[in-house]
Amino acid sequence: MTATDTPLTTSETGLELVAALRAAGIADVDDSGLARALYSSDASLYRVLPRAVVRPRHVDEMVATLEVCRSLGVPLTARGAGTSIAGNAVGPGVVLDTSRYLSRVHEIDVEARTATVDPGLVQAALQTAVRPHGLRFGPDPSTHNRCTVGGMIGNNACGSRALGYGRTSDNVVGLDVVTGAGTRLRLGPTTEPADGVLGDLHALVAAELALVRTELGRFGRQVSGYSLEHLLPERGFDVARALVGSEGTLALVLGATVRLVTDAPFRGLVVLGYPSMADAADATPGLLPTSRPPSRGSTSGSCSGCATCRPPSSPTCPAATAG
Ligand SMILES: Cc1cc2nc3c(=O)[nH]c(=O)nc-3n(C[C@H](O)[C@H](O)[C@H](O)COP(=O)(O)OP(=O)(O)OC[C@H]3O[C@@H](n4cnc5c(N)ncnc54)[C@H](O)[C@@H]3O)c2cc1C
Repeated sequence: MTATDTPLTTSETGLELVAALRAAGIADVDDSGLARALYSSDASLYRVLPRAVVRPRHVDEMVATLEVCRSLGVPLTARGAGTSIAGNAVGPGVVLDTSRYLSRVHEIDVEARTATVDPGLVQAALQTAVRPHGLRFGPDPSTHNRCTVGGMIGNNACGSRALGYGRTSDNVVGLDVVTGAGTRLRLGPTTEPADGVLGDLHALVAAELALVRTELGRFGRQVSGYSLEHLLPERGFDVARALVGSEGTLALVLGATVRLVTDAPFRGLVVLGYPSMADAADATPGLLPTSRPPSRGSTSGSCSGCATCRPPSSPTCPAATAG
């Protein structure tokens, strides 16, 4: 997130930045050569040396870090486990690592099948917390034993079970965020398009309905650009979902309420052989209906109301579209 377009002047040295962060009450600020080197790379080929690393102990410190970066014109890059493969988690200003301290499960609502968590919570730790209730968080990237919920939201992560459970955006119920402009928003499915940034977003989509309907959300793994399709009236102006996949460029995720689904009691693996990749691809559409977990709905091809449908039995069921 580039907090402002104003470039850093030469007088605003790294020392001033660190002093400003400490003056704002942020305890764990590290501009040592070691920390900067460690955080200069993620799982991508890129290497970008940050000016400083902040490991917030509380979400208030995330908000305060953003405020300092905004005031000094320093770019701010949020980071979970740094397993992104396109340079998403490196940046030249402050790197904000949520994984060190912000890793709690705040609430598990078994009846509503939701969990409210910190952004730095590792996906596998969430699974461990909800498994005793027979529940799980659906999406599981290959990096699930280290990637964080905040990073999954940043990247709209999927994983091998995405066909069954949907993408991360299909499993986010609500977000607590602070936007790049410093506005704190608590977003849920019923977010009302009020004044300010939400009103502006509402007006933007209302003015471009045809474009948003025809160009965005055309297939499950359409990840370029912002997912404005979630702001369409027929999708309930779901700003939380629209922010998923924005890679920290629009807002910092301070907390998330995510949907849980029934954990399948048994798992099986079927390996199918085809003469060529093209043959395998041709066969895929016919196999998709059987790839859904039985606990979530029908296995017959049309959804009978699965956990990720909003509303239930929606023809846009992500189980049929996720990739
Ligand atoms: C070997 C390997 C296998 C992978 N397999 C998969 C896979 O199967 N499916 C898949 O989808 N991806 C996969 N990935 C990509 C990556 O692991 C996932 O996208 C993962 O969810 C990223 O989580 P993270 O905690 O590492 O996030 P990071 O890499 O730290 O950050 C990801 C993005 O989210 C932003 N971000 C992080 N925290 C916040 C926050 N609090 N607020 C706002 N923005 C934030 C960051 O700025 C960045 O843009 C794989 C990567 C590797 C290296």
